[in-house]
Amino acid sequence: MIGSSIIKQFVVNLKNKIQYGLTDQECIEGIEEICSFFGIPVPVLIQNVTNDPDGCTCVINKDRSTLHDDILHYNLKELKSLGVSEKLGFMAVMTHECAHRVFQDYSFPGPDNGQWEKEMVADYFMGIKIGLSGWDVAPVINALARANGAGSHPVGKVREEYIRYGMFEARRHIIQRRKGTIQEYLDLFLEYRRTHYKELREAELKIY
Ligand SMILES: [Zn+2]
Repeated sequence: MIGSSIIKQFVVNLKNKIQYGLTDQECIEGIEEICSFFGIPVPVLIQNVTNDPDGCTCVINKDRSTLHDDILHYNLKELKSLGVSEKLGFMAVMTHECAHRVFQDYSFPGPDNGQWEKEMVADYFMGIKIGLSGWDVAPVINALARANGAGSHPVGKVREEYIRYGMFEARRHIIQRRKGTIQEYLDLFLEYRRTHYKELREAELKIY
């Protein structure tokens, strides 16, 4: 029985690798690396929902006061449409998802209880990680830059702006030979948003 389940897992992994460029093993390792970047525990449950027609790549925060009950879903088919076809692109998106875990209990400024800001800070931390690690994940950034805005997510132009601002701050820290804390990076995000609010408001007004 054990032998047949190992073979079954091997076949699933091979299929995923051929179709989506990633095995479950690589996905889990990638998520672990991102959790260690943020200094947070690995989600209690990580589920590959690629074969679920309603399955989306998302974090489910049950009790927002704890990081110890978070569930993480990933859908490789959906991620492929976002330009993810290898581990670095996957980890970039997982940085976004794990930022939602880190800030699940944080009150951001902005309309609709800071709904766009919650996404912007996640994109910004994606940029920080891309910049600090020197990843080339242009297909992912380009796909997000093309996104249509909605109440739930900012327009692509704003998403790209915050990813690139994160990359800029990461490079600045590398030049200064120091790694910022999550709090320092958050403060920089809030300051950037405050000083660039006029452009953001123009984009928001088209949706809200
Ligand atoms: Zn998000």
